[in-house]
Amino acid sequence: MEGTLTARDKVGVQDFVLLDAYTSESAFLENLRKRFRENLIYTYIGTLLVSVNPYQELGIYTASQMELYQGVNFFELPPHVYAIADNAYRMMCSELNNHFILISGESGAGKTEASKKILQYFAVTCPMTQSLQIARDRLLLSIPILEAFGNAKTLRNDNSSRFGKYMDIQFDFQGIPVGGHIISYLIEKSRVVYQNHGERNFHIFYQLLAGGEVERLTSLGLEQDPHLYKYLSQGHCARESPINDKNDWKTVFNAFFVIDFTEADLENLFGIIASVLHLGNICFKEDKQGCASVPDTHEIKWIAKVICPLTVELSVYARDAMAKAIYGRTFTWLVNKINSSLVNQDFTQKTVIGLLDIYGFEVFDKNGFEQFCINYCNEKLQQLLIERTLKAEQAEYESEGIEWEPVQYFNNKIICDLVEERHRGIMSILDEECIRPGPATDLSFLEKLEEKVGKHAHFQTRKLAGPKGWKRIGWLEFRLLHYAGEVTYSTKGFLEKNNDLLYRHLKEGGMSFSAHGASSVLALFTQVLCGSQNSILRECFLVAELENRRRPPTVGTQFKNSLSSLLELLTSKEPSYIRCIKPNERKEPSKFDDFLISHQIKYLGLMEHLRVRRAGFAYRRKYEHFLQRYKSLCPDTWPHWHGPPGEGVERLIKYIGYQPQDYKLGNGLFSATKLEAYWRGALARRE
Ligand code: ATP
Ligand code: MG
Repeated sequence: MEGTLTARDKVGVQDFVLLDAYTSESAFLENLRKRFRENLIYTYIGTLLVSVNPYQELGIYTASQMELYQGVNFFELPPHVYAIADNAYRMMCSELNNHFILISGESGAGKTEASKKILQYFAVTCPMTQSLQIARDRLLLSIPILEAFGNAKTLRNDNSSRFGKYMDIQFDFQGIPVGGHIISYLIEKSRVVYQNHGERNFHIFYQLLAGGEVERLTSLGLEQDPHLYKYLSQGHCARESPINDKNDWKTVFNAFFVIDFTEADLENLFGIIASVLHLGNICFKEDKQGCASVPDTHEIKWIAKVICPLTVELSVYARDAMAKAIYGRTFTWLVNKINSSLVNQDFTQKTVIGLLDIYGFEVFDKNGFEQFCINYCNEKLQQLLIERTLKAEQAEYESEGIEWEPVQYFNNKIICDLVEERHRGIMSILDEECIRPGPATDLSFLEKLEEKVGKHAHFQTRKLAGPKGWKRIGWLEFRLLHYAGEVTYSTKGFLEKNNDLLYRHLKEGGMSFSAHGASSVLALFTQVLCGSQNSILRECFLVAELENRRRPPTVGTQFKNSLSSLLELLTSKEPSYIRCIKPNERKEPSKFDDFLISHQIKYLGLMEHLRVRRAGFAYRRKYEHFLQRYKSLCPDTWPHWHGPPGEGVERLIKYIGYQPQDYKLGNGLFSATKLEAYWRGALARRE
């Protein structure tokens, strides 16, 4: 009727595949907007879930909602993160294979929240035995601990994950969660010693001060006020109102006990946190010989004796390097410790669902080595998506002999190669600069880049900078044309961060320490770290490492290798994707920023994904699996089909009334569109 809005006009379509103008980006945006206005934050593209951060509690994660989605066909209910979780779980149980859910999006888009919702969904809905409750609780409680040590308030997100996380949830043959394993990627250590205005250090520091018992703080020589600590107060927002450090401390502290931390572990762990804070407060003053002296030794007694003839600048450098190394390695220790409590030896035959919550593409005003690594990681994950969906899908149609119209997409392999190619890529050039004899600097590295990859189509040098101010590439900068947009990187700090050498730098005089100074600092580090009373520190800093003359791999190379293992791990599993979108920069509910969202639609590749889904047959399953899932719809195949699977499928689709243009039978593979419509129709007829 004229003047009356239909439901579709009002709330849009719940699957973008149903959009009439499916190639139009503005129609895509409009659909997202309609739904967001109605607090419908989830929309599908086939089986991919698009999620827009509502920045408010919507009451859609209740126990009754969980129950609703349990064991229900994917398309039967409105889109939800629970449907993705449930679908992966059901498929894992019926096909006995491994799955992963890749959650991507930029900082603040809702990745970590989504991964937590999925974990909670499994914890509540999966079958459980009394003896395995502890395994479930440990899985759940590993999250607040990791967040305390690995998350921080940033300008973009009050609870920003400053590390990448991949978590396997292991299930036994009955589908009971029995254990897990976590891999962490590249924690942002520089935050320990420096935070931008409006940002904080990792939550745990503030939690300990706000919530720790008075006796604990006294024994650690700490005071409650975070402003007393240099490492906590540079961002000028130590006490940020939406964050309740005191409450969070309670949660974290309780979690430690469930995850098997002993009182001694905690004492050591908080001893480390405290010593990092004390370390940050050490001030250096130049004495008559031009060496650093420590005017106030109050802090020192909480750490160790510092006697080393270094300049003030180098002393500050050494102090911060030590704080970063201590924190970074303690984080790794923490992940290992959690893993040892999640491991379940009793179950050998396990299937897993992996959750990947990893940093999204980052473009700041100033981009450094961290952004370079993070954006490279995003290029690799985009490659995975291309390989697994856009490319694999087309290859599969070909091998199955199914007719299909190819969809054009940008293959970002060229950018991955630019970064990672052996001997020629940016990572290799950086490594070469880090190890070559003679003085290497961030500038000499940049010049090498310009010489070796300067002509690459996705690389721009200072020489090519346009006349427009914002296009300019500054002194010490280069620009990469990523699949998700341009990013200008400053090479300042690249060498040092890639080297990350606490000892070697000092040993080799890489930071132009005098030989004497270097050996003294080295002795200091040995004394403080390797010989520490603190057993965690002793585990983290082995004397053998000090004595080892071989170079450890650089940070970039380690990261590259860990990403390549991750991709290998994922390649062997069945994927599900959640693409998270941030609606506005102000963390505000109900604000839908067109420009910001359009940009994310573009770089998350959502339009391409939709085109592939529309052009092809979104649903594809082996005959056996399709039969297993839908056999109840047809009397010939229910409860069992004993003939060849292909024949069973033919009976089933004939009974359902599938139209020839809506499905294809390949060599063992059933591919279809409109599965939802047919499925609903069949159910309605049955009733
Ligand atoms: P980062 O990359 O910085 O770690 P992220 O993508 O993990 O970012 P989250 O921490 O998951 O982002 O979300 C940021 C904030 O947005 C949350 O702290 C929460 O306040 C809000 N938020 C995210 N998702 C939801 C949701 N589904 N419902 C309500 N609020 C949400
Ligand atoms: Mg996060």
